Amino acid sequence: MNLSPYPWHRAWLAEHRVTVRERHHAWLLVGREGDGLAQAGLSLAASLLCEHPREGVACGECASCRWLAGSVHPDFVRLAPEESDDDVARLPTIKTDAARGAISFMELSASTERGRVLLVDPATALSRESANALLKAIEEPPANTRWILLASRPAKLLPTIRSRVLKLALPRPDRAAALRWIRAENGALSDPDHALANADGAPLHAVENASGDALEARERLVHDLGNPRELPTLSWGSWVEAGGKSQKRDRFALVLATLHDWLVDWARVRSGLAPSRALSDPTILAGLGANLALAEGLRLRRELLRKLTLPDTTLSARLQVEAILLDYRAKFA
Ligand SMILES: [Zn+2]
Repeated sequence: MNLSPYPWHRAWLAEHRVTVRERHHAWLLVGREGDGLAQAGLSLAASLLCEHPREGVACGECASCRWLAGSVHPDFVRLAPEESDDDVARLPTIKTDAARGAISFMELSASTERGRVLLVDPATALSRESANALLKAIEEPPANTRWILLASRPAKLLPTIRSRVLKLALPRPDRAAALRWIRAENGALSDPDHALANADGAPLHAVENASGDALEARERLVHDLGNPRELPTLSWGSWVEAGGKSQKRDRFALVLATLHDWLVDWARVRSGLAPSRALSDPTILAGLGANLALAEGLRLRRELLRKLTLPDTTLSARLQVEAILLDYRAKFA
């Protein structure tokens, strides 16, 4: 497990580590996944547990850092959803048993005076029951414990949880830092600028999107969206289905996110603005949905966002993708 923060979170960590230690026991880190929210949470936890942090950052060399890196730290627990293997594009959920187990762990006394740390990644994945169990624990926390909750969409958390934690917003990477990182991560990427714009400025997503299968699929889908009349809805449904257990959710999210970005650009072009995601030639976007009201296009975009964060768990991923693309085809052809 790598404990280093991303370069754009380093100064933030140096500035906030002591505050998190001293001021309160429960914190909510808010940031975007594609900017490295999960890693920020982990490096904050590491810095709280580290014996000799340097400028707020875990040293990587002490016993605590080595335990954490080896996933055997006696005072650290990370609560995250388990992989689901069913047919529906179910949102990953943190089950109640897992939450209870982690909370019991926090009640044991810590092996050092630096206490125990629990990281919930992401807190929006807590089932209602898990969230309530966590809420109780945060209301009456065992001594010397830190509770770090991560969320990209804090509005989805129970208000009672939001009211018990102090919120910290992670800084976004500036363009130069993001581009430097992308170049170091994937030197073969031909146009990092474009990749970053495509990913709405989120460097992790820029690199992920550029990985073989995802890049190819996204380009193919963009091409297909440019010609709604011919859009092969069934073959996109099959493609999602073919992802099997491990990739189905990723593929489902890729189709929805690509269409979402496409609609963002369509709405911008329709409003006389330059596309922000730069997926395609503005003239192609300008020719789509000529008779469609802007509000209708935006409604479809909102629906995609909702499905991305709260997918319908009664329909298979395949059927949902097919229905969404059919809807797009009907509106934009
Ligand atoms: Zn250390």
